[in-house]
Amino acid sequence: MQINIIHYIINLVLFFFITLITYSQNDVTKEDFFLLGKKDLKEILKSGLLPEAYLKFKQMQNDAKKEGVEIEIVSGYRSYQKQKNIWNNKYNKNFKEGFLGIKNINRIIQYSTLPGTSRHHWGTDIDIIDKRFTQKGDLLIEKNYAENGIYSELFSWMKKNSKKYGFYLVYDDSPKRKGFRFEPWHYSYKPLSFLFLKRFIKDNLIFNITRDTSLLGREFIDNSFLENYLKENLLDINKNLK
Ligand SMILES: [Zn+2]
Repeated sequence: MQINIIHYIINLVLFFFITLITYSQNDVTKEDFFLLGKKDLKEILKSGLLPEAYLKFKQMQNDAKKEGVEIEIVSGYRSYQKQKNIWNNKYNKNFKEGFLGIKNINRIIQYSTLPGTSRHHWGTDIDIIDKRFTQKGDLLIEKNYAENGIYSELFSWMKKNSKKYGFYLVYDDSPKRKGFRFEPWHYSYKPLSFLFLKRFIKDNLIFNITRDTSLLGREFIDNSFLENYLKENLLDINKNLK
């Protein structure tokens, strides 16, 4: 009788721990799935942002408007699949132009991320313009945001005010920075993205990236490339975001 009770208690304790372990493992997987842009966020997002980031964005947008600047998001959340399409299209284009192997990859990563590593996967990052000035063609070019450019007022307003709402420029113009080039249009909602970046590193997600067999050029991307990409492209960003 006593042995049965002990047996029962041992089973109960075991069951508790197994449930705990299974639950926390599932949780990690879900979170990682999200960080890689593979979770469907359609129901949650507003203008491509997570609710908390959206709320702060709206406040920022309203306050900017009072001073004549009309902030508009041209790109918010982007899924893994969409980023992979961008990557594969660029790879094919470069290939046709004669950029082979690692030269092709290095050309893509001047401005575009490896799918799974885009901050746009997180619902915290946005590319913005000033709605007062739209024109045909690519708006996200550096000279538009420079002095005398159509978005120079937007750029100065953001420089002065965006931090108050939690938004920071990611790829700033610090001369020592490596990785992605200066992107005066790309901002990140720090209170959330700061945590997501930490998690991305902690879970070593960078080494997951080349498992996708439909990713073009994956045969040229080895672990030392990925380590360097992590260091320069994902971590060499505005120092306020790390
Ligand atoms: Zn961007």
